[in-house]
Amino acid sequence: MSIEKISLSGRKTEVVDKTMTFSEKIYLPAVVKGLIITIKHFFKKKATIQYPEQQREFSPVYRGQHVLMRDEHGRERCTACGLCALSCPAEAITMVAAERKKGEEDLYREEKYASVYEINMLRCIFCGLCEEACPKEAIFLTKSKLLVKPKLEREDFIYGKDKLVISVEDAKARKYD
Ligand code: SF4
Ligand code: SF4
Repeated sequence: MSIEKISLSGRKTEVVDKTMTFSEKIYLPAVVKGLIITIKHFFKKKATIQYPEQQREFSPVYRGQHVLMRDEHGRERCTACGLCALSCPAEAITMVAAERKKGEEDLYREEKYASVYEINMLRCIFCGLCEEACPKEAIFLTKSKLLVKPKLEREDFIYGKDKLVISVEDAKARKYD
């Protein structure tokens, strides 16, 4: 009796219900064949790496941890318009807007800025829509090449401005440009 199996690729595989030969019954050739495959893998290039000592090359379109940018004078670019939060399908971004006061022109580029800006990294799916939505080029995932580090507590995955805003030195050195 033969059973016809149709694969998703459209190719047919015929399965024949035949009597096993002596060598098939003792399984020894099949065991040796399996061992040869295993031994061959010892000499192949390993697919795994010793992370974190070794790190893979990032793809040019890799999306890592978000960074909130400063301009070339070290001022925060974000104007707390909320477009990134609005475009986020995971509702991972929250912020509180504040008005820039006199004397704070060196800190914030626009008249309005985010006094609180938080991203819940457990919710984020790294889709990059926040980056695309930003009219001020203030938030980037593609430039950072940073990894969101594993932690044990859920609260540690709420990234605030202390973790997101790049340093003035990095901004002046145009590290993320
Ligand atoms: S990358 Fe996507 S999911 Fe993550 S914060 Fe941005 S818009 Fe939301
Ligand atoms: S990061 Fe960009 S889109 Fe989000 S609030 Fe700031 S300026 Fe607006």
